[in-house]
Amino acid sequence: MSDTESSTESTATESTESVEGANKKTKYDWEDPCWDHHFGMEDHSAGGSYSNKGRTAAVWRTLEAYGFRRSADKKSFDGLKPSGCFEYFVRKNVRREENLAEDGQIVGYETPELAEKIRSSHHIGYLEGPERKAILEEEDAELVTRALSTENIMRPNPDATEGNWSSQHLYYTDLFYSFCRGGLEEKKCTWHCRICKTCQDWRDWHCKGCNKCQYGASIPCENCNPEEFASWKSATGW
Ligand SMILES: [Zn+2]
Ligand SMILES: [Zn+2]
Ligand SMILES: [Zn+2]
Repeated sequence: MSDTESSTESTATESTESVEGANKKTKYDWEDPCWDHHFGMEDHSAGGSYSNKGRTAAVWRTLEAYGFRRSADKKSFDGLKPSGCFEYFVRKNVRREENLAEDGQIVGYETPELAEKIRSSHHIGYLEGPERKAILEEEDAELVTRALSTENIMRPNPDATEGNWSSQHLYYTDLFYSFCRGGLEEKKCTWHCRICKTCQDWRDWHCKGCNKCQYGASIPCENCNPEEFASWKSATGW
């Protein structure tokens, strides 16, 4: 913990008081775009994918049933990696055998059903004609693996030469399938917190201090920095 984090005086609210902030002109720390909004407490790794620890044989079998390929050293993937949201859903479901179809996919969420949910999403309806067409004509298995991966629904064009950026992809979106929300979500609006085990709004951030997601991209944690939170609150009239 730095001095700033443990400070209970009002100094944390006025950047001119801090050593690093000597040349800052803003009145409040949170008005400075370079300021670390959460006093170094944000855990960026919470939004990442799972590590190999905890990937049991059953988890691997189900991941592979959705098209993810295990690397030769068996510790990682060849190609696409499963999103945190999907892998959480898999880890939860493989514990009960009745949740699993014969091929290892999850009952109620097999490839044809997921492909149908994806294609009928209003997010796909909003896409430009050629992009939408490419997605509607995509093979079910290919589309589903991509929607469950960390890369979102996009597919590089294997025949692309130098060309312009859009010809490099058969389709390109920032959409992924959220099991927490039961449909497609935009990566810029929604992220899955691996620690809280649920999808969160982009405004939420995971606090290392209390190990919970907190509301407000520029708001100090109310639990871990009550004084800063109170200062923020009175200064902004929130
Ligand atoms: Zn999720
Ligand atoms: Zn906190
Ligand atoms: Zn969280």
